[in-house]
Amino acid sequence: MTFQASVLTIFPQMFPGPLGLSLSGRALEAGIWSLDVRDIRDFAVGRHRSVDDTPAGGGAGMVMRADVLAAAIDAASSPDDHRPRLLMSPRGRRLNPERVKCLADGPGAVLVAGRFEGVDERLIAARDLEEVSIGDVILSGGEIAVMALLDAVIRLLPGVMGNPQSAETESFAGGLLEYPQYTRPQEFEGRSIPAVLTSGDHAKVAAWRRDQAMKLTAARRPDLLVARESTKPAD
Ligand code: SAH
Repeated sequence: MTFQASVLTIFPQMFPGPLGLSLSGRALEAGIWSLDVRDIRDFAVGRHRSVDDTPAGGGAGMVMRADVLAAAIDAASSPDDHRPRLLMSPRGRRLNPERVKCLADGPGAVLVAGRFEGVDERLIAARDLEEVSIGDVILSGGEIAVMALLDAVIRLLPGVMGNPQSAETESFAGGLLEYPQYTRPQEFEGRSIPAVLTSGDHAKVAAWRRDQAMKLTAARRPDLLVARESTKPAD
């Protein structure tokens, strides 16, 4: 089953961009996912074909019009389309591994890339958009957020990753950050690979990695340890 991505943007030329290369590019060619990019401007109204207007109540910047965006969304999805409709937004729920996995298990997504100060609130309600943030930063537009989300989803689609096992040991799997990685050369600027990793003792390697993952997580993301503790089954 093909994961169907529809992207609404005023910069369609940005796509597929980096998604056309490497893992996601090969998966696109293989038909594991499909990309339908719509130019919001094609749905603009009036002589000036504007997609935005000044904010009601005054203030800086411009706001994307509800009617224009609604027409673009309606053109991208039929009434029996069960794909979730996502609006990239710093106000949204922060993207996390669970949401990414859930999207990857679904039929696809309709993704709206905002620009300017954002979009008319009525559109969000009228088209039942789920606001998704990629982190506590402000980007100048939603396109890169759409790409980040799609990249994270595509690599989980069946047949995309050469070694599906790598998804199971990566950061966040099991609620921990990933352990440190090393490769040849054995000596780099006076630093050696930790001896345990070249000992050939698989149990010791596993224990060392686990310990390192715990230490790193405690130092950098103590919030993950707290979340992990609270989701542990009671014994
Ligand atoms: N005025 C808005 C920010 C607008 S940024 C506010 O304060 O909330 C312009 C567009 O970039 C947004 O509509 C959104 O689509 C996108 N964007 C910016 N930062 C983002 C983030 N952290 N996650 C997802 N999308 C983001």
